[in-house]
Amino acid sequence: MKTSLFVPAKCIICNAYAAPSEMPVCEECLYKLQDLLSEKCPHCGNTARDCSCISDIHTPFLFRQDTAKMMLYRFKYWGDKRYMRFLAELGIKAAGINTAKFDGVTYVPRLPRRKRRYGFDQSKQLAKAISQIYSIPFVPTLKRKGGLEQKLLSRGARIKNAKDKYKVICNPEKKYKNLLLVDDVTTTGATLKVCAMILRENCASRVTLFALAKTPTLQPPF
Ligand SMILES: [Zn+2]
Ligand SMILES: [Zn+2]
Repeated sequence: MKTSLFVPAKCIICNAYAAPSEMPVCEECLYKLQDLLSEKCPHCGNTARDCSCISDIHTPFLFRQDTAKMMLYRFKYWGDKRYMRFLAELGIKAAGINTAKFDGVTYVPRLPRRKRRYGFDQSKQLAKAISQIYSIPFVPTLKRKGGLEQKLLSRGARIKNAKDKYKVICNPEKKYKNLLLVDDVTTTGATLKVCAMILRENCASRVTLFALAKTPTLQPPF
């Protein structure tokens, strides 16, 4: 461990030996991320934070540019816990979310076969990072039962598919006052909204929705 103090930290995005020790990215990449935060939605003209295309979901980033794909979705970044914490903190602050009101943070679980492919669940890791940074209890509430990929379905079919595909695993004795429900990327918002509906019926009085990025078109992100 001692020797690492003398090795300059590498920026996780551009790989340059330029990151200050307390951050996983260099100054230049931080500016790029800030540019992405101020990018305007092509449909409503607002930033992701104020985008009115998908209502009631807090999102700091638009999932549109190649750079956004590069910074948010090369999963090697996601496997790095420092970068996960960094994105979680940046994302929550940029979305303007007051974390003091939550008594639990939970996530939209991904398909078991996708989890196997990547080795981890992005939304779960994001929720865990938010839990640690803001001292909100981490609560698994839903389990994915398998089934069809949401992005391959029409909006109506997504809602039905989503409802059928999640199993509630929260403690029926405990009702949360306000749960923060976390997803990595949202397209139509249908999955998040259906999960929120299931949670309100079973686990929580209120559910606040957060996704790191939203796609302002119906195009799948990958
Ligand atoms: Zn960099
Ligand atoms: Zn918009």
